[in-house]
Amino acid sequence: MKPQLQQEFSKIYHKEATRTFFSPGRVNLIGEHIDYNGGLVMPCAITFGTYMLVSPNNDNVFRFKSLNFDETAEIPLQESYIKHGTDWYNYPIGVIAYFLQQDKKLQGLDILYYGDIPIGSGLSSSASIEVVTAFALNELFNIGFTKLELVKLSKWVENVFIGLNSGIMDQFSVAFGEKDKALMLNCDTLEYQAVDSNLGDNVLAIINTNKPRKLAESKYNERVQECQSALKALQQELDISYLCDIDTKKFDQYKHLITNPTVLKRATHVIAENDRVKLAAKALSDNNLEEFGRLMYASHDSLRDLYEVSGIELDTVVEYARTNPSVAGARMTGAGFGGCAIALVKANDFDNFSKGVIDYYTEKIGYAPSVYKSMIGDGVKEINFL
Ligand code: ADP
Ligand code: MG
Repeated sequence: MKPQLQQEFSKIYHKEATRTFFSPGRVNLIGEHIDYNGGLVMPCAITFGTYMLVSPNNDNVFRFKSLNFDETAEIPLQESYIKHGTDWYNYPIGVIAYFLQQDKKLQGLDILYYGDIPIGSGLSSSASIEVVTAFALNELFNIGFTKLELVKLSKWVENVFIGLNSGIMDQFSVAFGEKDKALMLNCDTLEYQAVDSNLGDNVLAIINTNKPRKLAESKYNERVQECQSALKALQQELDISYLCDIDTKKFDQYKHLITNPTVLKRATHVIAENDRVKLAAKALSDNNLEEFGRLMYASHDSLRDLYEVSGIELDTVVEYARTNPSVAGARMTGAGFGGCAIALVKANDFDNFSKGVIDYYTEKIGYAPSVYKSMIGDGVKEINFL
């Protein structure tokens, strides 16, 4: 249950928070491993997120407290900042550092965070805390950055201040997410379309395999290389800049140019997955959840067999989903090798699904997954409660 955040704030700071902000986590509904191939992703914001309660102070310090972590920090307002080891408050400090670098005038703040996103599970609690902080500073000090500028500066925090190499999808989806809409996004051009995605009497189940994601980075780099080889081979005869510049039909005519069978499998996934995203957008806006579910399963199978980034844990979740008649579709989401799967499940049968998948997975894998019930929620916003 969510703690009484305003009370917690008062206990810590002996005054009331003046403003409260919220930013969600995100999942990618479909379109996996194609962002670096010029393809389309289709993430949405989830109804789990990060709350930020704040009150200005006259002490020229930033005080940081999070109900999710024990460490607290009191850091003077100064001209520049560097990262403090692996402390959690590097994320908000990175945001503040960016504002100050741009000569924006800030004042000291007393801040309390609380997140109900499972941290470190691939649901982007990091983008959530970055974006909520950037949004809040922008509002509190009337800075006037656009939402897209807030997205880009939050990505800068993740990539440069924290030092993690990741794309823009996470910050974009937590900032631009909308209730009951998926975002069909090209991560290069940042062109996007908000797709009506009413899940009807279904919910979005998020199943965390609880498997540590060890392999992810090296395999990710390997896949990027393989896609570059595929592109090079196709460029012998095609004038394209990305694999996703062609569809499956065209690919079938030219795929003989790719002689390495592994590289051929990778390209086959990428191009078909990009086609699936477009079909999924149509299925969702037509309210055809059966078709959307079919595409989710097809995406998973392709990531398992052609792209080879799934693993026994994610496969076990999807295998169970297929046996449960209340599930329209399921797939791994994120880079793979662990992390989370998602499933579209009848709301009334969610508890039954949750118990079923926990039992099936625990029996086969030896430890339990965590299961969350979500909907497609709003992006970053100010809220008036707590
Ligand atoms: P993910 O983004 O998949 O959840 P990351 O490792 O990228 O995992 O980001 C998690 C980090 O983000 C945490 O270790 C912490 O530093 C920061 N963070 C996220 N949510 C909170 C929170 N509610 N309070 C404090 N720090 C948070
Ligand atoms: Mg993260």
